Amino acid sequence: MQRRSFLKKAGLGVAAGAVAAPAIVRAQPNIQWRLASSFPKSLDTLYGAAEILSRRVSEGTEGKFQIRVFAAGEIVPGLQVLDAVQNGTVQCGHTAPYYYIGKDPAFAFATAVPFGLNARQQNAWMYYGGGREAVAELFREYGCVQFPSGNTGVQMGGWFRKEIKSLADLKGLKMRVAGLAGQVLAKLGVVGQQLAGGEIYQALERGTIDAAEWVGPYDDEKLGFQKVAKYYYYPGWWEGGPQLSTIVNLKQWEALPKHYKSIFESACAEANVHMLAHYDAKNPEALKKLVAGGAQLRQFPKPVMEAAQKAAFEIYDEAAKKSAHFRRIYAQWLKFRSDQFLWFRVAEMSYDNFTFTSPLRPTAKK
Ligand code: CA
Repeated sequence: MQRRSFLKKAGLGVAAGAVAAPAIVRAQPNIQWRLASSFPKSLDTLYGAAEILSRRVSEGTEGKFQIRVFAAGEIVPGLQVLDAVQNGTVQCGHTAPYYYIGKDPAFAFATAVPFGLNARQQNAWMYYGGGREAVAELFREYGCVQFPSGNTGVQMGGWFRKEIKSLADLKGLKMRVAGLAGQVLAKLGVVGQQLAGGEIYQALERGTIDAAEWVGPYDDEKLGFQKVAKYYYYPGWWEGGPQLSTIVNLKQWEALPKHYKSIFESACAEANVHMLAHYDAKNPEALKKLVAGGAQLRQFPKPVMEAAQKAAFEIYDEAAKKSAHFRRIYAQWLKFRSDQFLWFRVAEMSYDNFTFTSPLRPTAKK
């Protein structure tokens, strides 16, 4: 809106543009798209990314390109966004591609792979490490184009009614968990369930499930999980830096004018930055509130983490045998991951370890 009023004041409105360059006016068609989000409106972080996208695209095209955002369940259920984009029910969607590992396990790479990359490394892989090209082949097969559009940062391990003191405590546990982690946990005896965000609370309250992971303090508090399960575990080893995606129907994408594409892509990148910043800014206070409200923080025991890691890499070997996309992306991703981990062990890890745990806690002098 600010930009529009600036243009008006400067006398550079639509009319002036039309006189100067009629070709440009013809290339600014009115386009109206519908976007299906996988998330409920109550989550301003996840759902909010699609609103950032919609607002920026509209402002950047002087209102010519409108994207109307629909929450999970309004047009299609939260876990069916890929299908809706593929079959043209909507032109685009905002979702977590690992919801679609039932179609191909390789979709996990676009979101998160257990014991995989953190948020910084996921961006590095996507934008400069060949990640976007690697997953593009997969999305193309489903008639879609994908754009990184948000990240939660490393997640929490979720809410448990009972403490997890050893591997034995996982046996028979019914847990809502997304992505490949469900398969990893299944190897450790957990019965995994994939539920959309809006459906978890009720399942936990009714006792249909014993545990549930969603995101982290800010979202989890809003959904109220602390009221139905008090042990709050960390870290969410299955989601070190899960990335959300905007996916667009390939034919619709190809029909867009070039500068609409450019604005759209920039808006996705903006949503990508904003979501992580939003979470990082909001999580500390939410965590304090949860703990004050009775949530019991627990760290996963190391033997549980180690067994999970071993199971995870067995799953990847199995997935690589079944899916050509997984095999192709995994080899490239694994090498990238190993180089990233080597580098992050030097400056990043020593900085984090020293400063985050330092007993010196200075406060501002009054
Ligand atoms: Ca999660």
